[in-house]
Amino acid sequence: SPPQGYYTRRGGIGESGDFVTSPEISQVFGELIGIWYVSEWIATGKPKAFQLVELGPGRGTLTDDILRVFNQLASLLSKCDVSIHLVEVSPKLSKIQALMLTGGKVQSNPEDKSAYMKGVSETGIPISWYRDIQDVPPGYSFYLAHEFFDALPIHKFQKTEKGWREVLVDIDPDVPDQLRFVLSPSSTPATENFIQPEERRDHVEVCPEAGVIIQRLACRIEKDGGAALVADYGHDGTKTDTFRGFRNHKLHDVLKAPGTADLTADVDFSYLRKMTQGRTATLGPIKQREFLKNMGIDLRLQVLLQNSRDTATREQLLHSYDMLMNPKKMGDRFNFFALLPHHRLADPDKNHKPESKSPLPPVAGFGELLLK
Ligand code: SAH
Repeated sequence: SPPQGYYTRRGGIGESGDFVTSPEISQVFGELIGIWYVSEWIATGKPKAFQLVELGPGRGTLTDDILRVFNQLASLLSKCDVSIHLVEVSPKLSKIQALMLTGGKVQSNPEDKSAYMKGVSETGIPISWYRDIQDVPPGYSFYLAHEFFDALPIHKFQKTEKGWREVLVDIDPDVPDQLRFVLSPSSTPATENFIQPEERRDHVEVCPEAGVIIQRLACRIEKDGGAALVADYGHDGTKTDTFRGFRNHKLHDVLKAPGTADLTADVDFSYLRKMTQGRTATLGPIKQREFLKNMGIDLRLQVLLQNSRDTATREQLLHSYDMLMNPKKMGDRFNFFALLPHHRLADPDKNHKPESKSPLPPVAGFGELLLK
Protein backbone atom coordinates (compact mmCIF):
# COMPACT_ATOMS: atom_id res chain seq x y z
CA SER A 1 0.00 0.00 0.00
CA PRO A 2 1.63 3.30 -1.04
CA PRO A 3 0.29 5.30 1.96
CA GLN A 4 0.06 2.57 4.61
CA GLY A 5 2.55 -0.15 3.57
CA TYR A 6 5.40 -1.11 5.86
CA TYR A 7 8.25 -0.16 3.51
CA THR A 8 6.69 3.14 2.43
CA ARG A 9 5.97 4.18 6.05
CA ARG A 10 8.46 2.49 8.32
CA GLY A 11 11.00 0.14 6.68
CA GLY A 12 13.12 -0.06 9.83
CA ILE A 13 16.31 -1.92 8.92
CA GLY A 14 19.16 -1.88 11.47
CA GLU A 15 19.56 -1.99 15.22
CA SER A 16 17.06 0.79 15.92
CA GLY A 17 14.51 -0.71 13.49
CA ASP A 18 12.60 -3.98 13.24
CA PHE A 19 15.16 -6.34 11.71
CA VAL A 20 18.84 -6.40 10.87
CA THR A 21 20.37 -7.78 7.67
CA SER A 22 23.82 -9.21 6.84
CA PRO A 23 25.19 -6.07 5.08
CA GLU A 24 24.22 -4.07 8.17
CA ILE A 25 26.14 -6.53 10.37
CA SER A 26 29.47 -6.61 8.55
CA GLN A 27 31.21 -4.78 5.69
CA VAL A 28 32.82 -8.10 4.74
CA PHE A 29 29.49 -9.43 3.44
CA GLY A 30 29.15 -6.75 0.72
CA GLU A 31 32.86 -6.89 -0.08
CA LEU A 32 32.69 -10.61 -0.86
CA ILE A 33 29.61 -10.08 -3.03
CA GLY A 34 31.48 -7.30 -4.87
CA ILE A 35 34.30 -9.76 -5.51
CA TRP A 36 31.78 -12.29 -6.82
CA TYR A 37 30.69 -9.84 -9.53
CA VAL A 38 34.26 -8.91 -10.48
CA SER A 39 35.08 -12.61 -10.65
CA GLU A 40 32.12 -13.25 -13.00
CA TRP A 41 33.08 -10.21 -15.08
CA ILE A 42 36.60 -11.64 -15.54
CA ALA A 43 35.25 -15.14 -16.25
CA THR A 44 33.10 -13.79 -19.08
CA GLY A 45 35.98 -12.01 -20.80
CA LYS A 46 35.83 -8.56 -19.15
CA PRO A 47 33.00 -6.94 -21.13
CA LYS A 48 33.47 -3.18 -21.81
CA ALA A 49 30.53 -2.18 -19.62
CA PHE A 50 28.29 -3.59 -16.93
CA GLN A 51 25.33 -2.43 -14.89
CA LEU A 52 24.97 -3.45 -11.25
CA VAL A 53 21.23 -3.66 -10.60
CA GLU A 54 20.15 -4.05 -6.98
CA LEU A 55 16.54 -4.92 -6.12
CA GLY A 56 15.39 -3.52 -2.76
CA PRO A 57 18.65 -1.88 -1.62
CA GLY A 58 17.44 -1.09 1.94
CA ARG A 59 19.77 1.52 3.43
CA GLY A 60 22.18 1.24 0.48
CA THR A 61 24.89 -0.39 2.60
CA LEU A 62 25.41 -3.40 0.33
CA THR A 63 25.92 -1.27 -2.79
CA ASP A 64 28.22 1.03 -0.81
CA ASP A 65 30.42 -1.93 0.24
CA ILE A 66 30.43 -3.25 -3.35
CA LEU A 67 31.42 0.18 -4.68
CA ARG A 68 34.36 0.22 -2.26
CA VAL A 69 35.55 -3.09 -3.76
CA PHE A 70 35.15 -1.72 -7.30
CA ASN A 71 37.20 1.30 -6.24
CA GLN A 72 39.91 -0.86 -4.68
CA LEU A 73 40.07 -2.84 -7.93
CA ALA A 74 40.02 0.36 -10.01
CA SER A 75 43.08 -0.58 -12.05
CA LEU A 76 41.36 -3.81 -13.10
CA LEU A 77 38.07 -2.06 -13.91
CA SER A 78 39.58 1.13 -15.35
CA LYS A 79 38.49 0.40 -18.94
CA CYS A 80 35.03 -0.80 -17.90
CA ASP A 81 32.02 1.49 -17.89
CA VAL A 82 30.24 0.68 -14.60
CA SER A 83 26.83 2.06 -13.61
CA ILE A 84 24.53 1.39 -10.65
CA HIS A 85 20.76 0.89 -10.98
CA LEU A 86 18.61 0.64 -7.86
CA VAL A 87 15.04 -0.69 -7.92
CA GLU A 88 13.28 0.76 -4.88
CA VAL A 89 9.64 1.58 -4.16
CA SER A 90 10.10 3.22 -0.77
CA PRO A 91 10.49 7.02 -0.91
CA LYS A 92 11.91 6.97 2.61
CA LEU A 93 14.55 4.32 1.91
CA SER A 94 15.54 5.84 -1.47
CA LYS A 95 16.41 9.08 0.38
CA ILE A 96 18.56 7.13 2.85
CA GLN A 97 20.26 5.32 -0.08
CA ALA A 98 20.91 8.65 -1.84
CA LEU A 99 22.52 10.05 1.30
CA MET A 100 24.69 6.95 1.77
CA LEU A 101 25.81 6.64 -1.86
CA THR A 102 25.98 10.22 -3.18
CA GLY A 103 26.03 12.35 -0.03
CA GLY A 104 22.47 13.40 -0.96
CA LYS A 105 23.45 15.11 -4.21
CA VAL A 106 20.72 13.72 -6.44
CA GLN A 107 18.42 14.99 -9.15
CA SER A 108 14.74 14.04 -8.78
CA ASN A 109 12.59 13.38 -11.88
CA PRO A 110 15.50 13.65 -14.34
CA GLU A 111 14.91 14.26 -18.07
CA ASP A 112 15.51 10.60 -18.78
CA LYS A 113 12.01 9.59 -17.63
CA SER A 114 12.74 5.90 -16.93
CA ALA A 115 14.52 6.76 -13.64
CA TYR A 116 12.87 8.77 -10.85
CA MET A 117 16.18 9.91 -9.35
CA LYS A 118 19.80 10.13 -10.49
CA GLY A 119 23.11 10.86 -8.81
CA VAL A 120 26.81 10.06 -8.88
CA SER A 121 28.80 8.12 -6.27
CA GLU A 122 31.80 9.69 -4.56
CA THR A 123 33.97 7.57 -6.85
CA GLY A 124 32.24 8.96 -9.95
CA ILE A 125 29.92 6.07 -10.79
CA PRO A 126 26.43 7.07 -12.06
CA ILE A 127 23.50 5.82 -9.94
CA SER A 128 19.83 5.72 -11.08
CA TRP A 129 16.68 4.81 -9.14
CA TYR A 130 13.60 3.01 -10.57
CA ARG A 131 10.34 1.64 -9.20
CA ASP A 132 10.29 -1.40 -11.47
CA ILE A 133 12.92 -3.70 -12.98
CA GLN A 134 11.31 -3.15 -16.39
CA ASP A 135 12.43 0.50 -16.31
CA VAL A 136 16.13 -0.44 -16.01
CA PRO A 137 17.83 -0.07 -19.43
CA PRO A 138 18.85 -3.31 -21.18
CA GLY A 139 22.50 -4.37 -21.28
CA TYR A 140 25.01 -6.75 -19.71
CA SER A 141 24.00 -6.62 -16.04
CA PHE A 142 24.75 -8.09 -12.66
CA TYR A 143 21.61 -8.36 -10.54
CA LEU A 144 21.48 -8.52 -6.77
CA ALA A 145 18.51 -9.34 -4.57
CA HIS A 146 19.38 -9.59 -0.89
CA GLU A 147 16.41 -10.05 1.46
CA PHE A 148 14.21 -8.74 -1.36
CA PHE A 149 12.05 -11.68 -2.44
CA ASP A 150 11.03 -12.51 1.13
CA ALA A 151 9.45 -9.05 1.40
CA LEU A 152 7.06 -9.58 -1.53
CA PRO A 153 3.44 -10.65 -0.94
CA ILE A 154 2.49 -14.33 -0.94
CA HIS A 155 -0.62 -16.41 -1.45
CA LYS A 156 -1.22 -19.17 1.12
CA PHE A 157 -3.00 -22.44 0.39
CA GLN A 158 -4.22 -25.28 2.59
CA LYS A 159 -5.04 -28.80 1.45
CA THR A 160 -8.39 -29.99 2.85
CA GLU A 161 -10.53 -33.08 2.42
CA LYS A 162 -12.40 -31.18 -0.28
CA GLY A 163 -9.22 -30.19 -2.13
CA TRP A 164 -6.99 -27.10 -2.08
CA ARG A 165 -8.37 -23.93 -0.49
CA GLU A 166 -6.86 -20.46 -0.33
CA VAL A 167 -6.09 -18.92 3.07
CA LEU A 168 -7.69 -15.46 3.10
CA VAL A 169 -7.73 -12.56 5.53
CA ASP A 170 -11.11 -11.57 6.93
CA ILE A 171 -12.45 -9.19 9.59
CA ASP A 172 -13.23 -10.98 12.81
CA PRO A 173 -16.98 -10.41 13.43
CA ASP A 174 -16.64 -10.98 17.18
CA VAL A 175 -13.67 -8.74 18.04
CA PRO A 176 -13.46 -5.08 16.92
CA ASP A 177 -10.39 -4.11 14.83
CA GLN A 178 -9.23 -7.69 14.65
CA LEU A 179 -8.34 -9.60 11.50
CA ARG A 180 -8.46 -13.37 11.19
CA PHE A 181 -7.45 -16.09 8.71
CA VAL A 182 -10.25 -17.99 6.96
CA LEU A 183 -10.27 -20.71 4.30
CA SER A 184 -12.00 -19.95 1.01
CA PRO A 185 -15.25 -21.91 0.85
CA SER A 186 -14.35 -23.19 -2.60
CA SER A 187 -11.38 -23.16 -4.96
CA THR A 188 -10.16 -19.66 -6.02
CA PRO A 189 -8.45 -18.48 -9.24
CA ALA A 190 -5.13 -18.37 -7.33
CA THR A 191 -5.63 -21.98 -6.18
CA GLU A 192 -6.26 -23.06 -9.77
CA ASN A 193 -3.20 -21.22 -11.07
CA PHE A 194 -0.52 -21.57 -8.43
CA ILE A 195 -0.78 -25.10 -7.05
CA GLN A 196 1.39 -27.48 -9.04
CA PRO A 197 -0.24 -30.83 -9.91
CA GLU A 198 2.75 -32.68 -8.41
CA GLU A 199 2.55 -30.77 -5.08
CA ARG A 200 3.15 -33.08 -2.07
CA ARG A 201 2.89 -30.58 0.82
CA ASP A 202 -0.43 -29.85 2.55
CA HIS A 203 0.25 -26.14 3.04
CA VAL A 204 1.97 -23.99 0.41
CA GLU A 205 3.04 -20.36 0.08
CA VAL A 206 3.48 -18.95 -3.43
CA CYS A 207 4.87 -15.53 -4.35
CA PRO A 208 3.78 -14.87 -7.96
CA GLU A 209 5.46 -11.45 -7.95
CA ALA A 210 8.81 -13.15 -7.25
CA GLY A 211 8.09 -15.52 -10.14
CA VAL A 212 7.43 -12.63 -12.54
CA ILE A 213 10.61 -10.81 -11.46
CA ILE A 214 12.75 -13.95 -11.81
CA GLN A 215 11.28 -14.52 -15.26
CA ARG A 216 12.30 -10.97 -16.23
CA LEU A 217 15.81 -11.42 -14.86
CA ALA A 218 16.18 -14.74 -16.69
CA CYS A 219 15.00 -13.17 -19.99
CA ARG A 220 17.40 -10.25 -19.57
CA ILE A 221 20.39 -12.49 -18.72
CA GLU A 222 19.58 -14.81 -21.63
CA LYS A 223 19.45 -11.85 -24.03
CA ASP A 224 22.14 -9.46 -22.77
CA GLY A 225 24.36 -11.60 -20.51
CA GLY A 226 25.41 -11.08 -16.91
CA ALA A 227 24.35 -12.93 -13.78
CA ALA A 228 21.98 -12.67 -10.83
CA LEU A 229 22.76 -13.38 -7.20
CA VAL A 230 19.79 -13.96 -4.90
CA ALA A 231 20.43 -14.27 -1.16
CA ASP A 232 17.61 -14.83 1.28
CA TYR A 233 16.27 -17.14 3.89
CA GLY A 234 14.37 -19.90 2.26
CA HIS A 235 14.08 -23.53 1.25
CA ASP A 236 14.08 -25.66 -1.86
CA GLY A 237 10.37 -26.44 -2.00
CA THR A 238 10.11 -28.25 1.34
CA LYS A 239 8.74 -25.80 3.92
CA THR A 240 5.08 -25.00 4.50
CA ASP A 241 3.90 -22.25 6.87
CA THR A 242 6.69 -19.64 7.14
CA PHE A 243 4.74 -16.35 7.02
CA ARG A 244 5.68 -14.19 10.02
CA GLY A 245 6.12 -10.63 11.24
CA PHE A 246 8.90 -8.74 12.99
CA ARG A 247 8.67 -5.55 14.97
CA ASN A 248 11.48 -4.16 17.12
CA HIS A 249 13.44 -7.40 16.49
CA LYS A 250 10.66 -9.52 18.04
CA LEU A 251 8.16 -11.86 16.38
CA HIS A 252 4.92 -9.99 15.75
CA ASP A 253 1.41 -11.29 14.94
CA VAL A 254 1.09 -10.75 11.17
CA LEU A 255 -2.57 -9.72 11.53
CA LYS A 256 -1.98 -7.08 14.22
CA ALA A 257 -1.53 -3.38 13.32
CA PRO A 258 -0.91 -3.93 9.57
CA GLY A 259 1.76 -1.68 8.06
CA THR A 260 3.71 -1.36 11.30
CA ALA A 261 5.68 -4.63 11.18
CA ASP A 262 7.98 -6.28 8.66
CA LEU A 263 6.05 -9.18 7.09
CA THR A 264 8.11 -11.94 5.57
CA ALA A 265 7.87 -15.45 4.14
CA ASP A 266 10.74 -17.82 3.29
CA VAL A 267 11.75 -17.80 -0.36
CA ASP A 268 10.90 -21.00 -2.24
CA PHE A 269 13.99 -21.42 -4.42
CA SER A 270 12.46 -24.40 -6.25
CA TYR A 271 9.72 -22.04 -7.45
CA LEU A 272 12.29 -19.42 -8.56
CA ARG A 273 14.22 -22.13 -10.45
CA LYS A 274 11.03 -23.25 -12.17
CA MET A 275 10.16 -19.68 -13.13
CA THR A 276 13.45 -19.20 -15.02
CA GLN A 277 11.76 -21.56 -17.52
CA GLY A 278 15.15 -22.91 -18.49
CA ARG A 279 16.26 -19.58 -19.97
CA THR A 280 19.30 -19.54 -17.69
CA ALA A 281 21.26 -22.05 -15.70
CA THR A 282 20.84 -21.90 -11.92
CA LEU A 283 23.26 -22.65 -9.09
CA GLY A 284 22.24 -23.33 -5.49
CA PRO A 285 20.61 -22.67 -3.16
CA ILE A 286 23.67 -23.19 -0.97
CA LYS A 287 23.98 -22.12 2.63
CA GLN A 288 25.34 -18.65 3.39
CA ARG A 289 28.23 -20.07 5.47
CA GLU A 290 29.35 -22.27 2.55
CA PHE A 291 29.11 -19.43 0.03
CA LEU A 292 31.01 -16.97 2.22
CA LYS A 293 33.64 -19.58 3.08
CA ASN A 294 34.15 -20.33 -0.61
CA MET A 295 34.45 -16.59 -1.20
CA GLY A 296 37.33 -16.35 1.29
CA ILE A 297 35.66 -14.82 4.37
CA ASP A 298 38.20 -16.46 6.71
CA LEU A 299 41.13 -14.82 4.96
CA ARG A 300 39.38 -11.44 4.90
CA LEU A 301 38.62 -11.72 8.63
CA GLN A 302 42.30 -12.44 9.37
CA VAL A 303 43.41 -9.35 7.42
CA LEU A 304 40.89 -7.11 9.20
CA LEU A 305 41.88 -8.54 12.60
CA GLN A 306 45.57 -7.93 11.88
CA ASN A 307 44.83 -4.34 10.80
CA SER A 308 42.69 -3.45 13.80
CA ARG A 309 44.51 -2.09 16.82
CA ASP A 310 41.90 -2.07 19.59
CA THR A 311 40.24 -5.00 21.32
CA ALA A 312 36.72 -3.58 20.86
CA THR A 313 37.06 -3.57 17.04
CA ARG A 314 38.49 -7.09 17.08
CA GLU A 315 35.62 -8.31 19.24
CA GLN A 316 33.12 -6.63 16.94
CA LEU A 317 34.72 -8.34 13.90
CA LEU A 318 34.54 -11.75 15.57
CA HIS A 319 30.97 -11.16 16.73
CA SER A 320 29.76 -10.17 13.24
CA TYR A 321 31.61 -13.14 11.69
CA ASP A 322 29.73 -15.39 14.11
CA MET A 323 26.37 -13.79 13.21
CA LEU A 324 26.97 -14.38 9.48
CA MET A 325 28.53 -17.84 9.69
CA ASN A 326 27.17 -19.66 12.75
CA PRO A 327 24.77 -22.38 11.52
CA LYS A 328 22.38 -21.50 14.35
CA LYS A 329 22.37 -17.81 13.37
CA MET A 330 22.48 -16.68 9.74
CA GLY A 331 24.96 -19.30 8.47
CA ASP A 332 22.42 -22.01 7.73
CA ARG A 333 19.24 -19.97 7.52
CA PHE A 334 20.31 -17.87 4.55
CA ASN A 335 20.92 -19.27 1.10
CA PHE A 336 22.67 -18.10 -2.06
CA PHE A 337 21.21 -18.84 -5.47
CA ALA A 338 22.50 -17.67 -8.87
CA LEU A 339 21.22 -17.34 -12.43
CA LEU A 340 23.86 -17.55 -15.16
CA PRO A 341 23.76 -17.81 -18.95
CA HIS A 342 23.86 -21.47 -20.01
CA HIS A 343 27.14 -21.00 -21.87
CA ARG A 344 28.83 -19.92 -18.62
CA LEU A 345 28.37 -23.42 -17.20
CA ALA A 346 28.51 -25.48 -20.38
CA ASP A 347 30.37 -28.74 -20.01
CA PRO A 348 33.88 -27.97 -21.31
CA ASP A 349 34.15 -31.44 -22.88
CA LYS A 350 31.00 -30.96 -24.93
CA ASN A 351 30.55 -27.33 -25.86
CA HIS A 352 33.86 -25.66 -25.23
CA LYS A 353 35.77 -25.05 -28.44
CA PRO A 354 38.52 -27.65 -28.73
CA GLU A 355 41.11 -25.00 -29.71
CA SER A 356 40.63 -23.16 -26.39
CA LYS A 357 43.11 -24.55 -23.90
CA SER A 358 41.63 -23.51 -20.57
CA PRO A 359 38.34 -24.94 -19.32
CA LEU A 360 35.62 -22.55 -18.16
CA PRO A 361 36.54 -21.19 -14.71
CA PRO A 362 34.30 -22.32 -11.84
CA VAL A 363 31.70 -19.89 -10.53
CA ALA A 364 33.06 -18.30 -7.34
CA GLY A 365 31.19 -19.00 -4.11
CA PHE A 366 29.55 -22.09 -5.56
CA GLY A 367 32.99 -23.54 -6.23
CA GLU A 368 36.58 -22.34 -6.22
CA LEU A 369 37.26 -18.58 -6.08
CA LEU A 370 38.70 -17.31 -9.34
CA LEU A 371 40.52 -14.29 -7.90
CA LYS A 372 42.63 -16.40 -5.54
N1 SAH B 1 18.69 -5.50 0.60
C1 SAH B 1 18.60 -4.73 1.82
C2 SAH B 1 17.15 -4.44 2.25
C3 SAH B 1 16.21 -5.57 2.41
S1 SAH B 1 14.60 -5.06 2.93
C4 SAH B 1 19.38 -5.37 2.93
O1 SAH B 1 19.70 -6.54 2.82
O2 SAH B 1 19.68 -4.72 3.91
C5 SAH B 1 13.64 -5.09 1.45
C6 SAH B 1 13.91 -3.96 0.49
O3 SAH B 1 13.04 -4.13 -0.66
C7 SAH B 1 13.61 -2.55 0.98
O4 SAH B 1 14.55 -1.68 0.41
C8 SAH B 1 12.20 -2.29 0.44
O5 SAH B 1 11.86 -0.93 0.39
C9 SAH B 1 12.30 -2.94 -0.91
N2 SAH B 1 11.04 -3.35 -1.54
C10 SAH B 1 9.99 -3.96 -0.96
N3 SAH B 1 9.04 -4.25 -1.87
C11 SAH B 1 9.51 -3.81 -3.05
C12 SAH B 1 9.01 -3.83 -4.40
N4 SAH B 1 7.83 -4.34 -4.68
N5 SAH B 1 9.78 -3.29 -5.38
C13 SAH B 1 11.00 -2.76 -5.10
N6 SAH B 1 11.51 -2.72 -3.86
C14 SAH B 1 10.79 -3.23 -2.85
